[in-house]
Amino acid sequence: MNINTNYDNLEQSYLFSTIAKRVSEYTQKNPDKKVIRLGIGDVTLPLCKAVTDALHKAVDEMGIQSTFRGYGPEQGYDFLRTAVQGYYKSHNVNLELDEIFISDGAKSDLGNILDLFGANNKVLVPDPVYPVYVDTNIMAGREVSYIDANQENEFLPGVNDIGKDIKADIIYICSPNNPTGAVYNKTQLKEWVEYALANKAIILFDSAYECFISDDSLPRSIYEIEGAKNCAIEFCSLSKTAGFTGTRCGYTIVPKNLGKLNKMWVRRQTTKFNGVPYIVQRGAEAVFTEEGQKEIKINIDYYKENAKVISDTLKECNIWHTGGKHSPYIWLRCPNDMKSWEFFDYLLEKIQVVGTPGAGFGKNGENYFRLTSFGSKENTLEAMSRFKTLFGKKQ
Ligand code: PLP
Repeated sequence: MNINTNYDNLEQSYLFSTIAKRVSEYTQKNPDKKVIRLGIGDVTLPLCKAVTDALHKAVDEMGIQSTFRGYGPEQGYDFLRTAVQGYYKSHNVNLELDEIFISDGAKSDLGNILDLFGANNKVLVPDPVYPVYVDTNIMAGREVSYIDANQENEFLPGVNDIGKDIKADIIYICSPNNPTGAVYNKTQLKEWVEYALANKAIILFDSAYECFISDDSLPRSIYEIEGAKNCAIEFCSLSKTAGFTGTRCGYTIVPKNLGKLNKMWVRRQTTKFNGVPYIVQRGAEAVFTEEGQKEIKINIDYYKENAKVISDTLKECNIWHTGGKHSPYIWLRCPNDMKSWEFFDYLLEKIQVVGTPGAGFGKNGENYFRLTSFGSKENTLEAMSRFKTLFGKKQ
């Protein structure tokens, strides 16, 4: 047998293990110091009541002969697809039910979708970005090119930033972005749609953080842009929207306008996937009810308030940053031209605040740092008060 040697081309990801190791070494040496973690990419608030009620009810149904469910439809139950359809409709996007596929989260489908594309496609990925896009393509032996996201383009690279010799067949866009928190407006996204249509490319649009968008003029879905149904697949998740990181549910939109791709995805899913648990789908359905929407908004607003506290503090300390407004992530330039790992150590040593070094998301993250709003309000306030002591005024 031969193994897939493409795995040899993956860079080892030491990011979160190195962070954990450095923090643990520090706390062992300084047991009296309180370390505050603002690097966390996971939600911390629990599921809302509408969801847990629906989960309990579904559990009970599974224990009764007449309501028990076995294998469900691989694409998801119609009750949840209809709820997702209604959610899109509320943002003026019309989808047919068989364009909506329920998933166990965006990460799996972002990897799985690559089954539909030939090995020789050229892939374009922004740098910095969520590392899954790069690694899944390397595993499949595809060539990956990068497009620079930087302060000059406000971390929102456009088609004019594509290098001259670069051909892009598969284009990744993540908006609101992880790690930068930057979000494309409709005009900027339209340029990408036009580019993809003109070049017969496909856009893989990751909208995992759409629920953080506060401004109705900003697109939550790429399908708000005319023509996008002819060139884009969209991935979304209830992980950050409704605290489903451990419960696992998301949805992927494969428009029927994309030629064979919709049918191919049905074939792929029916062959390799047996669907998301009925119980989880009932919980997910509750997210889209009036009550569910009200309840998840309270949690999202809590994180947004934290993000504002972080952003206001950075402004006060004169530290350049982006994100935080339509995103749980705040992306800051390390003061005094520090490198991101240097800044990580500096913060840990001086004020015991932990964030994520930008270098972990690509070479353009080298001088940047990601803070997140997923911590508690108390910890966020405490961490920012420490920031002020360290960086206030003198910056
Ligand atoms: N896409 C982005 C940009 C993310 O940051 C994450 C998780 O952090 C995911 C997708 C994965 O989401 P899920 O939990 O639905 O797999």
